[in-house]
Amino acid sequence: MIIVMRPDVTDAQLDHVRERVEAAGMRTHTSRGQQRVIVGCIGDDALLEDVPLLSLPGVESVTPVLKPYKLAAREFAAERTIVQIGDASDTVVGGAELTVIAGPCAVEGESMLRQTAHRVRAAGARMLRGGAFKPRTSPYAFRGLGEHALELLADVRAETGLPVVTEVMDTRQVDLVAGYADVLQVGARNMQNFSLLSELGRLQRPVLLKRGLSATVRELLMAAEYVMEQGNRDVILCERGIRTFETSTRNTLDIGAIPVLKAETHLPVIVDPSHAAGRSELVAPLAFAAVAAGADGLMVEVHPRPEDALSDGDQSLDPDAFDGLMDRLAAFAVAAGRTQAVRASGGAAQTAAA
Ligand code: PEP
Ligand code: MN
Repeated sequence: MIIVMRPDVTDAQLDHVRERVEAAGMRTHTSRGQQRVIVGCIGDDALLEDVPLLSLPGVESVTPVLKPYKLAAREFAAERTIVQIGDASDTVVGGAELTVIAGPCAVEGESMLRQTAHRVRAAGARMLRGGAFKPRTSPYAFRGLGEHALELLADVRAETGLPVVTEVMDTRQVDLVAGYADVLQVGARNMQNFSLLSELGRLQRPVLLKRGLSATVRELLMAAEYVMEQGNRDVILCERGIRTFETSTRNTLDIGAIPVLKAETHLPVIVDPSHAAGRSELVAPLAFAAVAAGADGLMVEVHPRPEDALSDGDQSLDPDAFDGLMDRLAAFAVAAGRTQAVRASGGAAQTAAA
């Protein structure tokens, strides 16, 4: 149930409405926008059947939410969520600027990470990615450098100012990864690891939630609900391609999911064209399509020497190719009504207005 308050509602009226809802056995969540305040009611709507909500002072309208997700539902928030990254950075996801995250699939060592970070920052990336714990199909494949990789990410963040995002695979790793990362990534294979989602919900740290290989949009939103329900409202959704009968790309990028998600939720939506493509030459067209469809950001794999990469070399861009992608992306960002951090020749990124 959603209660929309009148524009002139007083704090006392708001408190009274919340008290009545909570006395009926439901939880409330208040969302304050510039124009209006919304009280979201969480629980079984039947509990409110006998509460004359419309007659309470300050109430404008009462609407049931028929969707299974509540906190993630578009209607539940007065405005779209803008996720602030890190304490000191000016990076946000979900704002006017298209936020580009870039970096290697896995942190393989110090110099490759440092080199990549400087290049992607100069090209306009706002956040550095890099796996420390890698979910691999084969247990014999390179599975990441673990805590050492987290230390390297923190060092390179200190040097470049780029906030870092890295994957957490297990509830036992949450405190360790949270000790280093600005954003905690939940990988596609873990999208429905409900104990991990709940554990991340107890942190006050943004979560980048990747869509599962065979998950529906609804299941993705229910996974976000698991995090939010524990109190952490900073969830960034990521479309990264789904498994279909098609084998010409690694995964099928579900472009349609982007406008669907933007209609269904107030949470920001980003796209990972690298894991969808599986091949570097397909990354740029998928990135352009994602931005045109309304994505709030992109996450792109970049490696200084893709042919030597220990994982996902086929889909990784080298830094020159990433420069080219960013240069061409600017026109799509502007066409989609966004600003984009663009490359300044030889210097740091600057922002171009739409
Ligand atoms: C990744 O981003 O490093 C990754 C493993 O992606 P996904 O979980 O989408 O396969
Ligand atoms: Mn990868």
